[in-house]
Amino acid sequence: MSELRALYQEVILDHYKHPRNFRVIENAPRRIDGYNPLCGDKITLFLDVENGVIEDIAFQGVGCAISTASASLMTEALKGKRVEEAELLLERFHTLLTDHDSRQQAAPTDDLPEGADVASLEGELGKLEVLSGVREYPVRIKCATLAWHALKAALDNDTAEAVSTE
Ligand code: ZN
Repeated sequence: MSELRALYQEVILDHYKHPRNFRVIENAPRRIDGYNPLCGDKITLFLDVENGVIEDIAFQGVGCAISTASASLMTEALKGKRVEEAELLLERFHTLLTDHDSRQQAAPTDDLPEGADVASLEGELGKLEVLSGVREYPVRIKCATLAWHALKAALDNDTAEAVSTE
C-alpha cells in the first residue's frame, strides 16, 4: 500500500509541476471561475462543447498541488468525451473521494450513456484513483473537487457566477 501511495504522490507532483492543458482557450464558448476559500485555490476553466462532445478543455489558475493535479487530470480524462460520459465520470469521481465503501461501485458499468466506451471510461477512472488518498483528509477533498465543481457549472451552462466549494 505504501508503494502505491508513493506512486500516487509521484503522479500528483508531476501534474502539479507540469499541468496538462494549462492554457487559455481564446473565445471559449464556456468559461467559469472557481474558488476554494478553505485553501485559496483558484481556477478558470475553459470548455468547448460541440455536438455533445468536449472538443477542447483547458484551465488556468493558482492552487495547491492537489487542486492543480486534479484539474490537470480532469482535463486529460475529459477531452474528446461525450457530455454524458463526462457527467458519469464526475459522479464516479465524487464517489471515489467521499465514499469509503464504494470500490466496486466506482467502476462505471451501469447507467452508461448509449455508445459509451466502457473500457475507456474505466481507464480514465483508474487514472483518477491517484487522488483517492484525499479521502483521509476532508479539507483536501475541496481542493480535489474544485475543478469538478467548475466543470459541472460549465456543463450546465451555469457560468454567470463563480463557483465556490463552500
Ligand atoms: Zn488546495
